[in-house]
Amino acid sequence: MPLTHRPMRLGPLENNSYLIVCVATRETAVVDVGFEPEAVIDAVRQGGLAVRYLLGTHAHYDHAAGMRTVQEAVGGEYWLHPADRPLLDHLAAQGAAYGFPPAEPPAVVHDLADGQRLALGEETLEVIHTPGHSPGGVCFRGHDWLWVGDTLFAGSVGRTDLPGGSREALDRSIRTRLYPLGDALQVFPGHGPKTTLGLERLENPFVGEHVRLR
Ligand SMILES: [Zn+2]
Ligand SMILES: [Zn+2]
Repeated sequence: MPLTHRPMRLGPLENNSYLIVCVATRETAVVDVGFEPEAVIDAVRQGGLAVRYLLGTHAHYDHAAGMRTVQEAVGGEYWLHPADRPLLDHLAAQGAAYGFPPAEPPAVVHDLADGQRLALGEETLEVIHTPGHSPGGVCFRGHDWLWVGDTLFAGSVGRTDLPGGSREALDRSIRTRLYPLGDALQVFPGHGPKTTLGLERLENPFVGEHVRLR
């Protein structure tokens, strides 16, 4: 396996942070750090990993609040879809709404775009824009693995009642951008257990045809 990854379940909302690693070069992309950035920093150092990217699937507090601390310790460029910049600009207010401490995002934010390919060592990660849970929500694909943030969960989908959320957009993103990628793809969500696109396409009661039957 030329790409590997280490999932870490962190914080009071059980967020999944992921370290995606090119095995040949140890170049690493860190996906989503909200809480317990020290655990991510420890894992990077213990693994002797070279962090090139800090990738945001979206800019909710529980996925972004720890990115700056990680960056200050182990480096890496922070990347986010520009449609989520308004959320990032209000990171502290987002946290305050849930009683979480203030947080600052990284000072420099690089813009992700749909279809973009990020070189990671000898591997490539592809960016798929999947708005709905938030306007700038994205998924990252490497080989048959897909990191989806809060777009899709095992047996569920991300909430759409937060600012910028859209139930219709989320449904369209999952049905037209993710499901066509193939049933075999392994799905790693921002919360909860992993799944596959095939399982969700067959059984997820919150997507597509199933919704209209309800
Ligand atoms: Zn979210
Ligand atoms: Zn979340």
